[in-house]
Amino acid sequence: MRRMTDTSDAIASPATTPPATAGDEADELRHDWNRDEIAALFELPFNELLFRAQVVHRRHFDPNKVQLSRLLSIKTGGCPEDCAYCPQSAEYETGVEAGKLMPVEATLDAARRAEAVGASRFCMGAAWREPKDKDIDDVVEVLAGIKALGMETCMTLGMLTEAQAGRLAEAGLDYYNHNIDTSPEYYGEIITTRTYRDRLDTLERVRGAGMKVCCGGIVGMGETRADRVGMLATLANLPVHPESVPINLLMQVEGTPLFGADELDVLEFVRTIAAARILMPRSVVRLSAGREHMSDEAQALCFLAGANSIFVGDTLLTTRNPEAEHDMRLFERLGLEAMDPPAAED
Ligand code: SF4
Repeated sequence: MRRMTDTSDAIASPATTPPATAGDEADELRHDWNRDEIAALFELPFNELLFRAQVVHRRHFDPNKVQLSRLLSIKTGGCPEDCAYCPQSAEYETGVEAGKLMPVEATLDAARRAEAVGASRFCMGAAWREPKDKDIDDVVEVLAGIKALGMETCMTLGMLTEAQAGRLAEAGLDYYNHNIDTSPEYYGEIITTRTYRDRLDTLERVRGAGMKVCCGGIVGMGETRADRVGMLATLANLPVHPESVPINLLMQVEGTPLFGADELDVLEFVRTIAAARILMPRSVVRLSAGREHMSDEAQALCFLAGANSIFVGDTLLTTRNPEAEHDMRLFERLGLEAMDPPAAED
C-alpha cells in the first residue's frame, strides 16, 4: 500500500523555505496551467525547483519507492509513420528489420519472466500507425494471459478507433500509451504523417473507454525550453492528468533524422522531470528512455525531482545481466525499493 510521508521536517528546516503557497499551489490538481507559470518553474534556481518538486512528491508518494515496468516490443519495425526519432520507421535506414507480431506464448513467457524479477507492469509496444481489427483479436488473447499473472498491462499500438479502444478496455487493458511527443508548435518538425490532433483524439478515445492513460514526450530533439513548457502544458491541461507520464531523453539512433542533434543539458532534463512532478502531482512520472546514457548521479537527481518509475530492460530477465545488476546497485546505494505490484496495493 502506498503510504503518505510526513513532509514537516522537509518543509520546516531549510533557510530557503519557499513561499508558503508553493506546496499548496503545486498540490492542487489543476488543469488550467498557463505557459508563463510553467516557464517560471523552469526558471527557478535548481535547488528551489527540486525542493518544491520533492515536497509535492512526498504528499502523494513514498519518495523511496519506484515503480518498475517492463517494456517488450511485440511487433518491431516497418512502421509507416515518420517520427524523426524512431529507428522503427520504414522511412529510415537504421538496420531495424520489420517483424511480425510476436506469438502469444512468447509474449506470455516474457511477461512471466518480468513478473519473476519484480516488474509490476508489463508494457507492450507495436510499431503500427494503427492496429487492424484482427490485430486487436490477437492482443486481446495476450492480455487475458498477462492479467492472469496479476500484472498491470499497458499497450502502445498507435492510433485507435473508438471501437478498438472499447475492445481493449473490455479485455482489461489497464493503460494505453500514446505520447504527444513535444509541443504543438514543434510537432510538425518531428512527425508529418499524423497530426497533434490525431494524438489527442486517440487519448480521448482511450479515456472515454475507461482505460488509464500513459502519455508523455521526448526532450533533447532540438526543441526549445518553450517547447518543453508547451509539451507539459498540454499534458497538465488534459481534462484528467495521465496516470503515467513518461519523460524520455532522446536516444539518438544513426539513420534517423535526429541523429547528431545537439544534446540536451542533463540538468534541463531534470528540470523537466521536476516541472512534470509539480504540474501533475498524482501521476507516476517515468524516467524513461535515455536512462542508460545517464550517470548514476543524474538518475539520482531525477528521482529527487520526482521521477518514480523506470523501465527495466529485457536483459534484466536473464541471469548475469550487467544492466540489471547496475540498477540493483543503484537502488541499494540510493535506498530505493520497487513499488508494490498492484495486487499488494490498497
Ligand atoms: S508511430 Fe511509433 S513505431 Fe511508428 S515511427 Fe512513430 S514512434 Fe516509431
